[in-house]
Amino acid sequence: MKAWENHTRRKYIFYEVKKCNMCGSNSSNFQLLGKRLNRSQGFYPNKMSGITVSVCKCKKCGLIFSNPLPIPESFMDHYGLPPGEYWQEEYFDVQPDYFSGEIDWLKQLINSGHGTKALDVGAGIGKCMRVLERNGFDVYGLEPSEPFYNMAVGQMKIDPGHIYPTSIEEADLPENFFSFITFGAVLEHLNDPAGAIERSLQWLKKDGIIHIEVPSSRWLISRLINRFYKIRGLDYSGNLSPMHPPFHLYEFSIESFEENSKKLNYSIADYGYYVGKTYMPGIIDFFIKPYMKWTNSGMQLVVWLKKN
Ligand SMILES: [Zn+2]
Repeated sequence: MKAWENHTRRKYIFYEVKKCNMCGSNSSNFQLLGKRLNRSQGFYPNKMSGITVSVCKCKKCGLIFSNPLPIPESFMDHYGLPPGEYWQEEYFDVQPDYFSGEIDWLKQLINSGHGTKALDVGAGIGKCMRVLERNGFDVYGLEPSEPFYNMAVGQMKIDPGHIYPTSIEEADLPENFFSFITFGAVLEHLNDPAGAIERSLQWLKKDGIIHIEVPSSRWLISRLINRFYKIRGLDYSGNLSPMHPPFHLYEFSIESFEENSKKLNYSIADYGYYVGKTYMPGIIDFFIKPYMKWTNSGMQLVVWLKKN
């Protein structure tokens, strides 16, 4: 055993993707973007050790996905990390305006009175649940990662009767119960995001709203990185992080949801983009951020779905 002390042991099952998860197109519509290492790649991915998976894009709906999908044998291999290792420190300070923009946006879409039933899928340490509670919602949460769940109940004092230590795939919740369901930074981690949307629609009342925030597949920075690799003849891609934190298996476009809404019974009530971080020097940010805002090529896509 001693020889393995300096190694991380992780077992994966690799699933070949035969159909686009969101629109259902077959592999003739898949475009290969390049390989993705299981670590940060920098300028010279070709000089780095590691294992890679291919990154593909659906030409019909713009969904970017890992193909094959590397699914850890144990969920805890990816999400059993202590929250302090997964998130940066500032994550743990609940800013007074946290999620307030989303609540204002939501109020334009539904009449949310006192006691409106809400569900936070992937509640994390419970920050969003706290804010929804403060705004009069009767809020429930799902959080399958044990360290995050323990922190939500222990430090954030979330009522254990309102947060369940379970995944969306395994949760057993009443049908037509919630008026609002939120997926903040969740769908990109799941093996089957369209399946999760379908399941949550069952728990939602008619005309209820689902809020989704996901990485955008139109993010300018990834496109520039891919171009930069391509010019130098490297077959790598900067999209996704299938086998290292933050473990993103998917990036979405608004067309992914438009196509998916034709299969499931919902419509798109509204959407928008957050510019977010660029990881570029300040002087470049000065020019690039307004450009990203203007061209809808920011980091995050926000979509509001309405159950028909
Ligand atoms: Zn597609």
